[in-house]
Amino acid sequence: MTDLELAASRTWAEINLDDLTHNIITLRKLLNPSTKFLGVVKANAYGHGMIQCARTLQDNGADWLAVATVPEGVELRKNSITLPILCLGQANPLLAPLMADFNITQAVGDTENAKALSDFAASTGKSIRIHIKIDTGMSRTGFYWPHNDDTLKLQTAKTILEVCNLPGLYAEGMFTHFAAADGDTEFTHSQLKKLIEARECLRNLGHEFKIVHSAASIGVLDYPDAHLDMGRFGLVLYGYASTETGNEDSNLGLRPVMTVKSRITAVRHLPEGTTISYGRTHTLKRDSVVAVLPMGYADGMPRVLSNNYSVKIHDTLCPILGRVCMDMMMADVTDVEGVKAGDVAVIFDGELMPVAAKNAGTIIHEMVCSPSARVPRVYISNGKMSV
Ligand SMILES: *Cc1c(COP(=O)(O)O)cnc(C)c1O
Repeated sequence: MTDLELAASRTWAEINLDDLTHNIITLRKLLNPSTKFLGVVKANAYGHGMIQCARTLQDNGADWLAVATVPEGVELRKNSITLPILCLGQANPLLAPLMADFNITQAVGDTENAKALSDFAASTGKSIRIHIKIDTGMSRTGFYWPHNDDTLKLQTAKTILEVCNLPGLYAEGMFTHFAAADGDTEFTHSQLKKLIEARECLRNLGHEFKIVHSAASIGVLDYPDAHLDMGRFGLVLYGYASTETGNEDSNLGLRPVMTVKSRITAVRHLPEGTTISYGRTHTLKRDSVVAVLPMGYADGMPRVLSNNYSVKIHDTLCPILGRVCMDMMMADVTDVEGVKAGDVAVIFDGELMPVAAKNAGTIIHEMVCSPSARVPRVYISNGKMSV
């Protein structure tokens, strides 16, 4: 048995790197040639496999990569990624040696952590690159930028300037993150305005940032003013123009990169009145044919989709019957001709992902992250499949 056969024996995620390449090229065109392109590969590249996605980005002209944690950045460095890497998560002083030794640029949003990074760098003769994070309305991390109060603004700018001048730190960039790019235009503009004010204030104090950035996926698509020096592309890279509706209202032509498949383990003929799965939440209304799928909530199938979702078998939508178990679930194939053990069901694809997100009460971001470590990723590159 080959590794590929083994990977595709139960439940697996196909990651089409050719489609990722297509998305990178498509999205690049939205930016001015001088604006930098950052690909966000945190969280195992939103479930798609961090190393392979990072290599595809590196080979297709991305300028930067971003991760959420320093260890993610270290893993990239150990796998021949040479692009600049920005760690978006809160700076953790314990990890300062890794930032310095693996050349990982750290987001910094408060003086205390900045000082701790500086202490390490200065005392070891090393240097850490940082991007100053400004909190313009997300209220998560960053130096809080005030409304309307010029005295307070100047004071904040001076605090940031002190951080920029700490020994051992190189403050290369400054950025913010939008809280409601997908709906609240007025608030998004107010956030952008604050970032630009912060840049102005620091400029007046004598510090010029090389890279100022604000927009993630939807920010880049909907707010050209927010492109500044760099766009941070996350979900759109993986093929969805909206985290709720997918590509329904988009003419960008993005291609969803992930397809989750599962190989039917058994096909059962069961009589009317039989109840299916834990808790007996579904009773067959007719004599039925039921396919058993080896995918459950431990594989990333949300249990909340029990009795509330359909998978594709032989290109036909087949409702999930009863509760999703830890390792298995059942689907109704009564109306589909000739289904047999070994046939492949499509659990999530570009069409189904938005439906799954909606029915599970979540967003596509969370859905694509959900296939667990037990689900092998199988890669398609130049039309060829490999593990
Ligand atoms: C995750 C993240 C992104 C990417 O967001 P998308 O909506 O997936 O494009 C960009 N910037 C920051 C700070 C993030 O945390």
